[in-house]
Amino acid sequence: MEVALKPETKSEVRPQKSLWTAHMTAQTLLDLSHRVVRSGRNHETFMVHSPINQQELGRLPLCGRADVEEALHRAKLAQRGWENVPVKERVAVLSRYHDLVLAHKEALLDVMQLETGKARIHAFEEIFDVALNARYYANVAPDLLAPSARNGAIPFITETTEYHHPVGVVGIIAPWNYPLTLAISDAIPAIVAGNAVILKPAEQTSFTALLGLELLIKAGLPTDVFQVVTGTGPDIGPTLISGSDFLMFTGSTATGRKVAAQAGEYLIKCSMELGGKNPMLVMEDADVAAAANGAVRGSFGNAGQLCISFERIYVARSIYNDFKKAFIQKTEALRLGTDFNHEVEMGSLISQMQLGKVQAHIEDAVQKGATVLTGGKARTDLGPYFYAPTILEGVTPEMQLFREETFGPVVALYPFDTEQEAVDLANDTVYGLNAAVWSRNTSRAAGIARRIKAGTVNVNETYGAAWASLDAPMGGMKLSGIGRRHGAEGLLKYTESQTVAIQRLTPIAKPDFLSGSQFADVMTMAAKVFKWLPGIK
Ligand code: NAD
Repeated sequence: MEVALKPETKSEVRPQKSLWTAHMTAQTLLDLSHRVVRSGRNHETFMVHSPINQQELGRLPLCGRADVEEALHRAKLAQRGWENVPVKERVAVLSRYHDLVLAHKEALLDVMQLETGKARIHAFEEIFDVALNARYYANVAPDLLAPSARNGAIPFITETTEYHHPVGVVGIIAPWNYPLTLAISDAIPAIVAGNAVILKPAEQTSFTALLGLELLIKAGLPTDVFQVVTGTGPDIGPTLISGSDFLMFTGSTATGRKVAAQAGEYLIKCSMELGGKNPMLVMEDADVAAAANGAVRGSFGNAGQLCISFERIYVARSIYNDFKKAFIQKTEALRLGTDFNHEVEMGSLISQMQLGKVQAHIEDAVQKGATVLTGGKARTDLGPYFYAPTILEGVTPEMQLFREETFGPVVALYPFDTEQEAVDLANDTVYGLNAAVWSRNTSRAAGIARRIKAGTVNVNETYGAAWASLDAPMGGMKLSGIGRRHGAEGLLKYTESQTVAIQRLTPIAKPDFLSGSQFADVMTMAAKVFKWLPGIK
């Protein structure tokens, strides 16, 4: 049976020429669709359309409970073998994957553009990110996963070792905005830690995830260690969560609350990477031109459909007008389009739903008195869901986009008078994902950064500096998330730590030859000695 998940209609869009490329054809996507796990009991499918011109890209299985149960069954079997593969062999898969992702970058870029309509330069960020993650975790996993000696209960007598075991099956639920990065980069540390992964990508971007899987298999990952199930979240999510040992979720805060509640019901650990309403601060001593360039990249990268992009920019009043002028001018110079080349600087929104949300937020703001400095209109001449990069001024608390995440190419400018006011404004949100501070005095800016309640803060950069510092954790405070990706935390969260302590010579108990009070005296004396003994923590 075929299920009609229709393209979100826009009648004024004319049919355009075929989008197929030398690397990505209907046959390529059909071949990829066969990688989806099926139980054999369900034959429903759904069609994926390109947001560029609504072209049909291909059908995918609309997986249900039985398909997910099949994937869980296979994952459990595959994981037992995989965890016994030596770490150096698991790492070798990542190393080969790094090379394969770079070697197949044109195909990956094509499929990402077909599915999302994003600019090729933004799709390339994903290739780079996945390759960096593969390299980073290949390099650090052997040390992070190695057993480590710990201070024992009694020095020299208790020998204590910490081990990291894989949790088992990791369920990953990913969004559409960075379909390669958010599907694969979070899977890489899970896999190298010895887990099996079942990924549920967003409906709109599952072919990208399937090509990511295809390359993992090519890199030597055993069958069923990484599987993909396609379909809708409410259909697949509950079964996936109920059978997983860990849930890695990236998406909206609203959905995050629902899936975290389910994870809580099954008492499985979860990592939640959620929404944001990210602030950028431009201090009075900032390089105005550099900050304006950053504002363009940070607000309109991926057409603003980026959890760490800026939707609020606070500028010191003394440079407000200069910054505003430069920002508008650079925004209006952006090259917009859907071409498959690296010259386009901003692509399409992904769907009518995203376009509708952007339009509703802007209409609400304008109706309540905000001023559109540039943009403020759909660009259906470029594509059905295209929206012009938009800068607003005079945004006030009663407007929807003052606090709510828009997730589109829309940013509001506000002046501020003092440093403390700027910090307070930045923190006046339920979110805490990313922020930036621009100042020529980097130590002052770093001090301001530490006062902003956000998981990552970039000084004189938009998001790339903190995001690509893979050796440091990345994630959200407040309603922007629970847990972290990247760094040691990004790998060890997929493990269960275990302490094995070997006791020698004497038990940790009162010996027969001491009375209770003598034992207490001896232990008191020992505690005092341990406090001063070097090497005892
Ligand atoms: P979404 O929450 O609607 O969907 C995310 C994923 O969850 C999709 O795969 C979807 O199918 C699935 N899902 C939906 N309902 C579900 C349910 N009931 N049970 C299980 N799964 C379900 O988010 P979206 O619109 O795809 O993505 C945009 C949001 O994601 C924005 O809020 C953005 O800020 C956030 N985001 C956060 C990060 C981060 O790292 N913090 C990164 C990218 C996107």
